[in-house]
Amino acid sequence: MSIVVSGIRATGQLHIGNYFGAVANFLRMQEQDQCYFFIADYHALTTHPDPAALKANSRTVLAEYLACGLDPEKVTLYYQSDVPETSELYMLLNMQAYVGELERCTSFKDKVRKHPENVNAGLLTYPVLMAADILLHKGQFVPVGKDQEQHLEMARNFANRFNHFYQTETFPEPYAYNFSGALVKVPGLDGTGKMGKSEGAANAIYLNEDPAAVKKKIMRAVTDSGPTEPNSPVSEPIANIFTLMGLVSQPETLQHFQSAYADCSIRYGDLKKQLAADMEQFLGPLRERIKEFSANQALLDKTALMGAEKARESARKTLTEVRQVMGFR
Ligand code: AMP
Repeated sequence: MSIVVSGIRATGQLHIGNYFGAVANFLRMQEQDQCYFFIADYHALTTHPDPAALKANSRTVLAEYLACGLDPEKVTLYYQSDVPETSELYMLLNMQAYVGELERCTSFKDKVRKHPENVNAGLLTYPVLMAADILLHKGQFVPVGKDQEQHLEMARNFANRFNHFYQTETFPEPYAYNFSGALVKVPGLDGTGKMGKSEGAANAIYLNEDPAAVKKKIMRAVTDSGPTEPNSPVSEPIANIFTLMGLVSQPETLQHFQSAYADCSIRYGDLKKQLAADMEQFLGPLRERIKEFSANQALLDKTALMGAEKARESARKTLTEVRQVMGFR
């Protein structure tokens, strides 16, 4: 049985990128591994949310985790901020993290470019907090999307550096993980790049989104002017739509449209209508369950309490060891 740790930032509703990049793996791993899945509410602070929004978003992620099928009896499901040992390990790991390596991190450079007015220290040390989350439970596997690959490499560096410096084997090397063998990047609807909350509202499809809104977004997804010759290469926007179809449609449906593209008979309107219908098949039942779990405050409270207790027990053990190794009394 491996130790598995992963989280999702409390910055709003989950989208299907979160689902297929992370949560779909959580669901399989909870059946066989020792799993710690959390709601990253500390991580959400880099963008300075107001308290009411942070609270609402954190609650939403918990309700959506449960609606997706995470079972609090099988996994430790908790709010990051309920486990203060996270902050202590973050502080300790920061002493061995170098500003140069943090500044070279692609996601940091990206954020600096997009939000030059808010380059805070929390943003710079984001990968250290992520490493603390994982190492707190001695995590070995971390189900995440492709965008997190570099952060995992940094977590491995911090783990190895600590072990080497203190001549210990306290931390295992954590690896990013996806069941399919390769990490996934779910594309957005704007023709380029990944689906994400910060890429504009029209780019992401949320698990709890109204069916009419989902359809509208899909019908407006960026396409190209269509194939002009048989077997011409597929452009990025169309490849993205095929990728989304690969996630929610039957394999024959995808094959049908890929063949239609190859022989130039494809009609993008039909392609999008089909994707919208298949997306609704996938989202419909999920939406119902999100409604149920969101309305059950008692269950959300009970889940959070149970998760915090289990997570703190594991965290305390690690911190006791870390403090001893480092030479604290
Ligand atoms: P975030 O919403 O940035 O906190 O991401 C939470 C998890 O969802 C991480 O494991 C990400 O790698 C994953 N994720 C977010 N967006 C995508 C995407 N477009 N494709 C695949 N995985 C994603």
